[in-house]
Amino acid sequence: MVECNKTKNMANCNCSYEPCSRKGVCCECIVYHRRMGELPACYFPDNIEKTYDRSIEKFIQINSK
Ligand code: SF4
Repeated sequence: MVECNKTKNMANCNCSYEPCSRKGVCCECIVYHRRMGELPACYFPDNIEKTYDRSIEKFIQINSK
């Protein structure tokens, strides 16, 4: 069984949503946001991430300049 790299993953997590229990548990994080039609926080720069707009539309908008 593979151990979760939660502590290691946290080094790459820019999510500012404090109450979330999925922080550092990337497999749960991506499943959750995929279900919502979104992407996880780490796909967005900090200034966009903190708006909590994790939509695919936002991702395309900020990457199509
Ligand atoms: S990106 Fe979403 S699921 Fe992942 S840690 Fe942040 S709030 Fe939780």
